[in-house]
Amino acid sequence: MLRTRLSICRKKVSYRTEADALAIVFASGLPLRPYRCDRCLQFHLTSRRKGKRVPRMASVVTG
Ligand SMILES: [Zn+2]
Repeated sequence: MLRTRLSICRKKVSYRTEADALAIVFASGLPLRPYRCDRCLQFHLTSRRKGKRVPRMASVVTG
C-alpha cells in the first residue's frame, strides 16, 4: 500500500470515492491516478510516472 505523509495528505485535494477522483482525472486530461490514502481514507490524485524526472520541456502540453 502506498504510504502517504500527513503533510502531503493535508496539502492534497481529497475525494470521497474513487469515482469522484476519476471524474476529475478525465475532466483534466492529465495522466493522474487516484489512490486511497491511508491517512484520511479518502482518495487523492498522484502522477502516473514512477519517480522518473521529466524535463520541463516535456511537461508542455501541445495541441
Ligand atoms: Zn489523505
